[in-house]
Amino acid sequence: MLRIAVQKSGRLSEDSLKLLKECGIGVPNGNNQLKIKAENFDAEILFLRDDDIPEYVQDGVADIGFVGENVVLEKNKATEIVERLGYGKCRLSIALPKTRKKIELKELNGMKIATSYPFILNRWLKQNKIKAETHVISGSVEIAPRIGLADAICDLVSSGSTLFSNELYEYETLLRSEAVLISGKQLSPQRKELLDKLLFRIRSVKKAKY
Ligand code: ATP
Ligand code: ZN
Repeated sequence: MLRIAVQKSGRLSEDSLKLLKECGIGVPNGNNQLKIKAENFDAEILFLRDDDIPEYVQDGVADIGFVGENVVLEKNKATEIVERLGYGKCRLSIALPKTRKKIELKELNGMKIATSYPFILNRWLKQNKIKAETHVISGSVEIAPRIGLADAICDLVSSGSTLFSNELYEYETLLRSEAVLISGKQLSPQRKELLDKLLFRIRSVKKAKY
């Protein structure tokens, strides 16, 4: 049996379940269940917080998972991206208050940047030889500059409307992300076979769409 991790409730949940359905894998409506047996496929669906999916896949609690590439890169676990899925598109960007227009990269030196993505941000700062202070917060990062907690933020952006309503603008993009399918590195031959079967179907669904 293939154990498939899906975000429990959030931006990726609906599209992930829809994709499974298009692959002929039924997921019965379980009210708030942690796991549920799939229909028409030898699989079990585990409903988890997206942040936990890379670790569960690394540890072999789940065999594969549907998750944002941003989370995969941030968590940096021993998993493999086996397919890009084309939904959940967003950017991880540094945003600045509107009052600080057109600064040069080096002017980020000494700034305090609030983020939920310290690993990706610190790597980028290092690559660009910028010494800034990162301040890790887990949610509502966009309000940090207004309450005086930070000079800038590094957060996910899609339409930009959240930035706009917080009087911020997108300054620099660190990463373009979309939902991906990750797999553990040590699947048994039987599970590998099920994954290959699923991948074949996902690719057929993608081909039919584009
Ligand atoms: P959870 O409760 O599972 O931890 P969450 O609040 O961390 O959920 P969501 O906001 O549901 O996460 O986002 C899940 C994923 O959707 C993100 O990691 C990202 O890959 C993708 N995504 C696409 N657009 C956006 C956006 N504008 N803001 C945030 N995430 C986005
Ligand atoms: Zn999350």
